[in-house]
Amino acid sequence: MSFDSLGLSEPLLRAVIEQGYTTPTPIQSQAIPAVLNGGDLLAGAQTGTGKTAGFTLPILQRLSEAPAPAAGSRRPVRALILTPTRELAAQVEESVRTYGKYLKLKSTVMFGGVGINPQIDALRRGVDIVVATPGRLLDHMQQKTIDLSKLEILVLDEADRMLDMGFIHDIKRVLAKLPPKRQNLLFSATFSDEIKTLADSLLDKPALIEVARRNSTVEAIAQKIHPVDRDKKRELLTHLIRQNNWFQVLVFSRTKHGANRLAEQLTKDGISALAIHGNKSQSARTRALAEFKDNTLQVLVATDIAARGIDIDQLPHVVNFDLPNVPEDYVHRIGRTGRAGATGEAVSLVCVDEHQLLKDIERLIKRPIPQEVIAGFEPDLTQKPEPILRRSQGGGGARQGSPRQGAPKQANGGGRGPAKPAHGGGNGNGGGGNGSRSPKPVAAKTGGNGSAPRKPEGARPAGALLGGKPRTEGGGAGRRDTPRTGQRGR
Ligand code: AMP
Repeated sequence: MSFDSLGLSEPLLRAVIEQGYTTPTPIQSQAIPAVLNGGDLLAGAQTGTGKTAGFTLPILQRLSEAPAPAAGSRRPVRALILTPTRELAAQVEESVRTYGKYLKLKSTVMFGGVGINPQIDALRRGVDIVVATPGRLLDHMQQKTIDLSKLEILVLDEADRMLDMGFIHDIKRVLAKLPPKRQNLLFSATFSDEIKTLADSLLDKPALIEVARRNSTVEAIAQKIHPVDRDKKRELLTHLIRQNNWFQVLVFSRTKHGANRLAEQLTKDGISALAIHGNKSQSARTRALAEFKDNTLQVLVATDIAARGIDIDQLPHVVNFDLPNVPEDYVHRIGRTGRAGATGEAVSLVCVDEHQLLKDIERLIKRPIPQEVIAGFEPDLTQKPEPILRRSQGGGGARQGSPRQGAPKQANGGGRGPAKPAHGGGNGNGGGGNGSRSPKPVAAKTGGNGSAPRKPEGARPAGALLGGKPRTEGGGAGRRDTPRTGQRGR
């Protein structure tokens, strides 16, 4: 299949070719015709599948085909794309510009943590497409600096992540104010009951597309565990980076404090490293990302939330310095590598405290992860596990307390209470004026790569070193003092 056969116009095809894309990814070959058809869409696809072009290209085409507004009048906002994080918003808008470079459409991005006035100016000048995070969009809606009365297309990108981050009420407030007649596209990597409820209220007879299910994506990535003592992790990381001459290494840390400390220590070891997390200013995060992208920064240390939406082609190395408390985060983390068909490697440094976390992850991905002990870093098998403490959560860090990752510190007015991940908080089915229409699938397709599970190559069976010991009451119970779902507010 080629891009020519998808019904895209010449200016879009030209932009796609310039990007060097020759073949549409599975999500693109299914989503592009579905969106061009004008109907609603429910798509199961995570980052790395090419989903952004999957919705951006047909949106650009639909908007460019419709009549331009009368001369002199301001361009109305016709498409709105909501994303969970600032980074993702910036990247999506960059894609809109890239693919739309031969069209006359205008776009802008808006998120919190930066001045609102330039965003107001851009809106005044008139834009066709707005990419926004929910909180800042609501600020504009409340200040009446944005007019969405002519909206034609709404996209919720990474909807599951938006709900995880506590944005459900913000989203419902936005939906309640949009014109009811519009095309709705919902992209989500996972389908919890909460997502299904949202889809039910939002979508009208959506086309259903599902590609690269979580497990098949995991299969495309070479994964390895290096068992190591907790106080040798940093030394081992330095050793691995030096020994293998790794560049563009994305390292995950469980906490903001841990990320800072690790970046400092690596820098002392002569490895250029910066940390990104919600406490860093937007400009510091943008700068770190830019340096990482252009290879002047060897290592980027990130917390789970800060790393969401980092979109770098063919990221070669992902390292879990700490295993995440929530097994699903492991899948999101390693999804940073091996994207759009490229090969990648995900390495986890696992100490005795993390055996149960590892077991949970292996249960989720339905396979053992190969283990390899690095000479000189053999773990002390007599070491007792210690509880994983909630360090450096600061500011009521659990997700219920901080719905907007990295949002401005000042009170934001407008009476938005702390968002809860659960729904049912007051405005009921406030979604979008579509009432309670159920999604009726018009086309159920599966794509993705149903490749067979990878076998651990030349590896010890899981459990030989890690996770193989029976859990004792004391050691096991102590480790779980961190709530599994309380880790999002970093
Ligand atoms: P996304 O899932 O939208 O975050 O895209 C993941 C990466 O795949 C991006 O860096 C895109 O530039 C790249 N990409 C998107 N579509 C294609 C394609 N058809 N061929 C090759 N790479 C692509």
